[in-house]
Amino acid sequence: MDFDLTPEHQAIRTLARDFADREIAPGARERDRSETFPADVLRKMAPIGFLGGPVPEEYGGMGVDMISHSLITEEIGRVDSSVRTTLSVQISLVEMTILRFGTEAQKRTYLPALCTGEIIGCFGLTEPEVGSDATKLRTTAKPDGDGWVLNGRKMWISNGSVSKLALVFAQADPSKGHQGITAFVLERERDGYGSQAIHGKLGLRSSDSSELILENVRVPDSARLGEIGEGFKIAMTSLDGGRYSVAAGAVGVAQACIDASVAYSTQRQAFGKPIAGHQLVAELIADMIVETEAARLLVWRAGQLKDRGAPSTRETSIAKLYASEAAQRAADGAIQIHGGYGFSDEFPVERYWRDARVNRLYEGTTQIQKLIIARFATGIDAIG
Ligand SMILES: Cc1cc2nc3c(=O)[nH]c(=O)nc-3n(C[C@H](O)[C@H](O)[C@H](O)COP(=O)(O)OP(=O)(O)OC[C@H]3O[C@@H](n4cnc5c(N)ncnc54)[C@H](O)[C@@H]3O)c2cc1C
Repeated sequence: MDFDLTPEHQAIRTLARDFADREIAPGARERDRSETFPADVLRKMAPIGFLGGPVPEEYGGMGVDMISHSLITEEIGRVDSSVRTTLSVQISLVEMTILRFGTEAQKRTYLPALCTGEIIGCFGLTEPEVGSDATKLRTTAKPDGDGWVLNGRKMWISNGSVSKLALVFAQADPSKGHQGITAFVLERERDGYGSQAIHGKLGLRSSDSSELILENVRVPDSARLGEIGEGFKIAMTSLDGGRYSVAAGAVGVAQACIDASVAYSTQRQAFGKPIAGHQLVAELIADMIVETEAARLLVWRAGQLKDRGAPSTRETSIAKLYASEAAQRAADGAIQIHGGYGFSDEFPVERYWRDARVNRLYEGTTQIQKLIIARFATGIDAIG
């Protein structure tokens, strides 16, 4: 067992940290205020390779391991969760899914363009009436000649309006229940494919969240991803990767809360000394540090398993659950330490708090993670 990062890991963390501080952090508040999608940031990120971190070089990625992937994700999550979400979807949900389940032609067609940011992708699983229980998808895929016709709606789709490519999950054979669900790779230009951006979100305001509308969208069979009926398995495998990315991003938020709290509490004076000198404030900071470091180690453990090709669903759920809850507590503590100033966007901690909230919802809510973890212990499925 080794808790030290290799020199390569340290180098990639430094690269990501410098980029995040120089190119992402300065515009984060303004993008949040104006709900502006971070297209300019993505353009700058592409030449460094961060849009295709773990994708093998032969398909246009950097070919980094999963620990490096978590380090990049943490550093970006530390400064802007909206950018981090955009990236998590692009890499973990879209690129890695095509890499794992796509045909050679699909990989060659889409991965290089995704890794350079030439195209943005989205992942359409959730629907207006179906979230946690993804076995009950209502979007349909009906066979039609040598292709398929898709109908339905997808809800809360990150990158939905800005993407040129969508992974969409649809029911192709209702008689088979979730074993009828099939995955497709849709290109934006298809007739009947529309989107509607969602505004007024609590947080993640500069990340694009949209409803996808599919009305008689005709696709060739070559747009199918994986086998007919394999869609549910593909979605769950993708979410495992997505949860890892969310967990790493949440560690970044928690670290940002520590950094902001240390800076503020050592400057701000009350009762004749810096507030960091008051024990109840010191306790808030200590709690944040303990939980953040525990969360980071849980992420690294899951990452090590993934790098070894070992099963990691349980460990990924533990990391995602703990890191997302810890980030929320850290953000709450950071606001407390900032007093009234913590309630205004003059300081970033209120954004950390708003942005952290969604980590407990997407890619499987906190409740769903608990049910997965307990299922590994008891062998009994309490989800359905
Ligand atoms: C900003 C944002 C971005 C998102 N991005 C995407 C995306 O890119 N792609 C995508 O497909 N989806 C995306 N989602 C959707 C997200 O994954 C879902 O919101 C989430 O899975 C929960 O589904 P739901 O909202 O339908 O809630 P529901 O499933 O209706 O759940 C509501 C509540 O009931 C609880 N609950 C449900 N079932 C159980 C159970 N068996 N036991 C205990 N409690 C239960 C849940 O934990 C939750 O508290 C996004 C959501 C948000 C807010």
